Amino acid sequence: KILDNKVALVTGAGSGIGLAIAKLYAKEGAKVIVSDINEEHGKSAVEDIKSAGGEATFVKADTSNPEQVEALVKATVDAYGRLDIACNNAGIGGEANQTGDYSLDGWKKVIDINLDGVFYGCKYELTQMEKNGGGVIVNIASIHGTVAAPLSSAYTSTKHAVVGLTKNIGAEYGQKNIRCNAVGPGYIDTPLLNQLDEEHKKALIAKHPMGRLGKSEEVAELVLFLSSDKSSFMTGGYYLVDGGYTAV
Ligand code: NAD
Repeated sequence: KILDNKVALVTGAGSGIGLAIAKLYAKEGAKVIVSDINEEHGKSAVEDIKSAGGEATFVKADTSNPEQVEALVKATVDAYGRLDIACNNAGIGGEANQTGDYSLDGWKKVIDINLDGVFYGCKYELTQMEKNGGGVIVNIASIHGTVAAPLSSAYTSTKHAVVGLTKNIGAEYGQKNIRCNAVGPGYIDTPLLNQLDEEHKKALIAKHPMGRLGKSEEVAELVLFLSSDKSSFMTGGYYLVDGGYTAV
């Protein structure tokens, strides 16, 4: 198995893309820290992984709170002794409004989780990975790390920023045996899209040349590749898994 003996941390692992990543990491042999703000979903993810023969532990953390993220990395080391792989996945869509009408609170909430939360993750993960002598980080951005999402300028701004943060980490840690890449999924069929009505969903599907939404498992395969030694010369990059969305 390609992640045998690795210790992996996934934020927002109770649902959707994060859940698929945590399950695939465990299937490939990693010991997985499943973290989420939602305790019920996180614990049920751990049960799923264990009943499939994997190893996982739930640690509750709100990624927008730096103390909780620092404690999450510490809890990972307390449980499994080190940190080899971290996937900063937790994120929200946030308020839908034109930029001029976007509320200040709505803006701040998206920045707190989608950008500050990813920075806190990277900061404490990098510190630990330097102590272990290396590691790999995968940040979940979006196609909106490179193209607009009308009515979601906070989301677009944070995802572009995550791509920038990822490049910076790639540049800074290239000689420290720590790699960091970002992934840009198109629209993926997860509970995040539940807030959309059917008409809006159809319009989104039509923007993907493949004529469908993606599946969480299809994102997880790319994340697994970037988390494993198979991507040993890849850092500071941004990789799309978008059914062709950004090609047209
Ligand atoms: P989801 O809503 O299914 O899952 C997100 C998980 O993150 C939930 O379990 C939620 O409890 C958790 N979470 C939310 N806020 C948190 C916080 N402050 N601290 C800790 N956990 C928190 O969403 P998803 O579609 O799986 O999205 C996961 C990531 O993928 C997000 O970063 C999202 O922006 C990104 N993404 C999603 C899509 C899509 O179409 N679904 C496309 C591109 C990128």
